[in-house]
Amino acid sequence: MWLQEGKPYVLKVVREAEQRLIRDGSRNKEYLSITGIPAFNKLSAKLILGEDSPAIHEKRVCTAQCLSGTGSLRVGAEFLAKHYPQKVIYIPTPTWGNHPKVFTLGGLQVKSYRYYDPKTRGLDYEGLLDDLRAAPSDAVVLLHACAHNPTGVDPTREQWEGIRQIIRSKNMLPFFDSAYQGFASGSLDEDAHAVRLFAADGGECLIAQSYAKNMGLYGERVGALSIVCASESVATRVDSQLKLVIRPMYSNPPIHGAAIVATVLGDRGLYQEWTVELKAMADRIIRMRHLLYEALRARGTPGNWEHIIKQIGMFTFTGLTKEQVNFMTKEYHVYMTSDGRISMAGLSSRTVPHLANAIHAAVT
Ligand code: PLP
Repeated sequence: MWLQEGKPYVLKVVREAEQRLIRDGSRNKEYLSITGIPAFNKLSAKLILGEDSPAIHEKRVCTAQCLSGTGSLRVGAEFLAKHYPQKVIYIPTPTWGNHPKVFTLGGLQVKSYRYYDPKTRGLDYEGLLDDLRAAPSDAVVLLHACAHNPTGVDPTREQWEGIRQIIRSKNMLPFFDSAYQGFASGSLDEDAHAVRLFAADGGECLIAQSYAKNMGLYGERVGALSIVCASESVATRVDSQLKLVIRPMYSNPPIHGAAIVATVLGDRGLYQEWTVELKAMADRIIRMRHLLYEALRARGTPGNWEHIIKQIGMFTFTGLTKEQVNFMTKEYHVYMTSDGRISMAGLSSRTVPHLANAIHAAVT
C-alpha cells in the first residue's frame, strides 16, 4: 500500500478515470464475457510485452482478465494442470508465501530451486542454475518478473540471459509473476525487461499481471493472464480452453477495476500521468531505503546494511532473525513478517528513526 502521511492513497489518475466512467452514461452492469474486457486484455498484453512485440503482432498471445495477480496465477495453474504434460512447477526459495498453495491447489506438483544466498544477501546464481539443470525437461519454472518478493533481489541482465538459456535449452516453460511492474525501477519498460527477453526468442511463456501495486487497485482485484504461444492457431485453441477453465471457477470477472485500467492505459494523457505517479511511488521507496540505511549508519548499528539500498522494490529482506523480529514487535511495536521482511512502502520519514532504533536494539 502506498501511504501518504500514513494513510492509504488513491492515485490521481485512478480518480480521474473513475470520474470519466461515471460521466459516461452508456456504461452498464451487465456480465462481461468469460475473459473480461477485450480492450483491457489488449492493453495489458502491450504493457508487459511492449508496443512493438512481435508475439502480439503475430497474434500469438491470448490474454484473459483475471482476479488480480493471485487469480491470474491460479487460472494459469489450472490451465497447465489440465493441458500441459509436465505437471511440475519449480518456484524459488524463498518466494511469496501464497505461491506454493496457489500452484498445489491449482493441480501442479511444487518443487523449488535455490534463489537467495543468506551469506551474501544476494542471488545464489550458481545454485539457481544447478537446480534448473537438474530439473526435468519441460518443467514449468516460476520467475518473479521484477522486485522479487520477499528478497528484493533480482538477477542482473546477464544473469537473466543465463537463466533464459538454461530454460530454453531444456524446453522448460517460464511462468512470470509480474506483480510490481514499474514499482521496482520506476520504469514500466525497465521492469518488463525479463519478460520481453524471453518473449523475444519466440518461445512460449505465461505471464500473470497484477494492477494491485502499480495502480494501487488492491481491492479492485484487477489482473491478467497472458499466454504467449508458438503460433496463432495454438493461441486460438489456448484461448478457448482458457474459457473452459475459467467458466466453472467464477464465470466471468468484475467490471469496475478493469474499466479503470483500460481507461488509463487507453488514454495518452492519463497514461503519461500514471507513469509520473508510478515513478514518484518508486522513488519514495528508494528514498526510504536510503533514509533507513543512513539512520543505521548514524547509530553505528553493527553489521553491513548495504543490502537495504541494493535490494529492489517494495520489500527489504533485512536478514534479521525470527528472535530479533519478535523482540522488535514486543518492545517497539514494529511489525513485519517473521522472515525479517519489511514493507518499505509502509515507511515514512517520520517512522524511519523509530525503526532504526528498533533494529539497533535488536542486533546489539
Ligand atoms: N505475486 C507476488 C510476488 C506478490 O507479492 C503478490 C502480492 O503481494 C501477488 C502476486 C498477488 O497480489 P494480488 O493478487 O493482490 O494482485
